[in-house]
This record gives sequence, C-alpha cells and structure tokens, in this order.
Amino acid sequence: MKYVDEFRDSEKAGFLVREIEALVSTMTLPPDRPIYVMEVCGGHTHSIFRYGLEGMLPKGIELIHGPGCPVCVLPMGRVDDCVSIAENPGVIFTTFGDAMRVPGSKKSLLQAKADGADVRMVYSPMDALALARKNRDREVVFFGLGFETTMPSTALTVLQAEAEGITNFSVFCNHITIVPTIKAILDSPGLQLDGFLGPGHVSMVIGTAPYEFIAKFYRKPMVVAGFEPLDILQSIWMVLKQIKDGRSEVENQYARIVPDGGNAAALQAVSRVYELREFFEWRGLGSIDHSGVKLRETYAGYDAEQKFAIPNLKIADPKSCQCGEVLKGVIKPWQCKVFGSACTPEMPLGSLMVSSEGACAAYYQYGGQKSYKEAV
Ligand code: SF4
Repeated sequence: MKYVDEFRDSEKAGFLVREIEALVSTMTLPPDRPIYVMEVCGGHTHSIFRYGLEGMLPKGIELIHGPGCPVCVLPMGRVDDCVSIAENPGVIFTTFGDAMRVPGSKKSLLQAKADGADVRMVYSPMDALALARKNRDREVVFFGLGFETTMPSTALTVLQAEAEGITNFSVFCNHITIVPTIKAILDSPGLQLDGFLGPGHVSMVIGTAPYEFIAKFYRKPMVVAGFEPLDILQSIWMVLKQIKDGRSEVENQYARIVPDGGNAAALQAVSRVYELREFFEWRGLGSIDHSGVKLRETYAGYDAEQKFAIPNLKIADPKSCQCGEVLKGVIKPWQCKVFGSACTPEMPLGSLMVSSEGACAAYYQYGGQKSYKEAV
C-alpha cells in the first residue's frame, strides 16, 4: 500500500477485526481478566480513539494506554520551572503549542503569557533559533520536550547555534527516553500486561534493537506499530499471534518507516549533545532512573538550567487528579472523579486532558464516558 487512505480502508479493517476474533477464539484467555496490550505511544492512543478501534476488539482484549505522551507525563514542578524562566525580564520563552496549557502549581505558560511574560509558540527548535538570531539583545529559551522523536532536532539546533556562534539561545531540556520507562512499567508490582504495541516515531530514531530485553528477559511480545487504523489492528493481531504461539519477540509492523537499525545521523547528534540524567521525575510514575537527558557540559552555554535560577521543586498533583492511576492503567480516564466536570480540554486539571495524545483528551473527544465495548 502506498497512500494513507489505503491504511484507513474499512473493508480491510473489518477483515482484520474478523482475523483478530478468529485468533482470540482459539486462545486460552486468562481466567480472571482480559488479555492486556499496552500501546506505549500517545499517537497510538489518539488513533485508537479517533477511529474507534478499541470498541471493535473482542471482549477478551483490553488496551492499556501507556505513558508515551511527553506533555502528559510532565510534572507540575517542571511547568513551574518553565514559568519561572519565562518571567525573567528579557527572556523570550518558546514552546510547542500543546505545552502552553499544561497546568503548573500556580499557572500555565499561557497564563504566564497573559500576565505579561513573552511566551511564544514555535513549530520547531530552529524557529526558536531564528528568533535568537533576530533578537540578539534578548535571551531566547526553547522548551525541549519529547522522547527520542524530538530529541535529535533539539540537538541539531544546539549544534547549529554553536556553529553560528549564537550565544543568546538556550534549551530548557526535558527530553525523556522510552526504554527505561518501559522497564519501570515492567518492574511495577502486580503488573498485568501481556504485550506491547511499540512506539513508531521513537523507533524511527532508535530502531528496534533497544527493545530486545522486553522479549528476552520479560518474555513479553512487542510489535513496533504504525499509526493508521490498519497498522494498529494488524499490530494487535501480531501481538496476539505471538501470545498464542508462546513466542516473545520484537517484530516491526512499521517497517515502511522504521529501519531496524534506527537513524544513525540522528543518534549521532543525540549522543554528541546529551548525557543521561541520573533520574527524572515523571508525572504519575515518580522518579525513573536514567529516563531523561540533559545537555553535556560542553554545551553548558546552551543549557537554560545553567543560565537561569529555577525553583526545581517537586509539586504534588491536586488531590482530585488521578492522572497517575490512568497512566498506570489502574483506571480508565472516564473513571477519574473529575473527568468531564472539573477537568475538560478547555479547563484541564491534569495533563492527560491537555494534549490530543493524552488518554483523557482522546476519551473526551472521541469516546464520551465509555467506549463502545464498555457501554454494550
Ligand atoms: S480527568 Fe483530568 S485529572 Fe482526571 S486523570 Fe484525566 S487529566 Fe487527570
């Protein structure tokens, strides 16, 4: 198949759903629960709700929405740090749009902008660098956010700034890494996950080899999946087939985009500019060892954490917020006490309601209070 519409063909989707049903009918299901498959990536969560895929699956299969939306796992303290940097006189604080509305303990970046801070939305770190070029008398800070998908573009921008001798540009680095996060999930007490849909965009950069430990040591199948409905349905079938056959392997459904060896140029830029942090705080998941990166000492001049004093405080989520339980798959978004009342996409209380890749926003926009399967 060549064109995106072909990956949304309803007849082929129907065929795949019937194949999944046929496969499940021959499987021995756990006696007291469905088979749990986690989609790690927020892009998959969005597609699953946008196309109503969850409701098409047989009752013995349940999808668990993982932590792969970088906006959703951003702790409140880091938002407070952003606001603190942005409120420095002379700073132009730049960010991707979906991070603007993530609530901090006192305000979001959007509210800081309304209060007078110069916060601007950009589409790439290179846009932020262009602002630095044009405003030599200002400090331009880029909010580096995201997994390995966006990490290389921030790294390449730092290298470009260095090459041009631009010194009024820096990065507030909140980039995070996927593999320690999956490991932390696998090490959670009482884990009930039977397989994973692997993140397509991240894997485009890191390849498939870093996931081998999931299959080898945790004996769980992982299928790196694309984002169209047929990609996701086929990947679910592939995970189930591995379970049925008693296999645990890393398979690549998204081979049209994901090279098994990843992107060498992107990985080279990443390793040149960043080093692993000892630990990084995740919203709802706590501190995870080696799950974030910071700029290497060589690039300290481009590190906003070295240029500015930031509060760096750990802030607890509001009591009524259940983002952590949703992130761990303990409850469904609509089971949160404030879903659709005190927490809506217009007035988000938790970060899962902010980004379109957040499970709560996806449920709210496409799923209502219950998915089709739960409602029937
Ligand atoms: S409804 Fe809001 S507060 Fe509750 S889990 Fe979702 S995002 Fe968090």
